[in-house]
Amino acid sequence: MAAVLTQSLIACHECDLLQRKTAVRPNGTVKCRRCGSVLYRNKRNSLDHTLALTVGAIIVLIVTNLFPILGLQAGGDRTSATLFGTAWALHEMHMTSVAVLVLVTTLLVPALQLGATLYMLVPLKLGRVPHGLSPIFRFKQSIRPWSIVEVYLLGIIVALAKSAHSATVVPGIALWSFGALVVLLAASAASFNTEDFWARVEACQTRVRRLGTTVAAADRKQHDRGAASLS
Ligand SMILES: [Zn+2]
Repeated sequence: MAAVLTQSLIACHECDLLQRKTAVRPNGTVKCRRCGSVLYRNKRNSLDHTLALTVGAIIVLIVTNLFPILGLQAGGDRTSATLFGTAWALHEMHMTSVAVLVLVTTLLVPALQLGATLYMLVPLKLGRVPHGLSPIFRFKQSIRPWSIVEVYLLGIIVALAKSAHSATVVPGIALWSFGALVVLLAASAASFNTEDFWARVEACQTRVRRLGTTVAAADRKQHDRGAASLS
């Protein structure tokens, strides 16, 4: 009874007021009774949208790392650099800590974030609960503030504007895909609905429990039948 009561309560993220959950119509929103902030939404297929956006972001992240981010043309010489190449150049200029920071915040953290989302959502889509779901979920939430690809994009744009006086700047494929990555990462994070996520996890766990009970009952019946025929 206590578990049922706990499940039907929700605390407001803004003012901590504990409130009872109510049914929401599709695409509807429930707001806090005291401060009016949004408590939860009933978005249709929100996890499917997140999955699609995550797959899109992973493809764009791969493209961003394979192609040059920009090229420079000056006095007949032409040079281009990838994202990894710019980090390596920083390392060669004895700015290893900056190079590591660039790689961690623009490549490693977004890749881990997208990988964790994919790891959780694909099995749920197939009706299974992945192993280690809770630690992976906590890990994904904890690294989120370190994904700051938009800051790096802003830095590139400023560098492009400054270099335009001394050389011809040719934006590479990765620059456009980097812009798309910023949008897809933000859209993926915005479409991820925690309420829907845990509701789907619970539905999967209930289905597995019911299946286990049915299989156990069938085994017991078969065992009893075998014992009766022996006697
Ligand atoms: Zn509130």
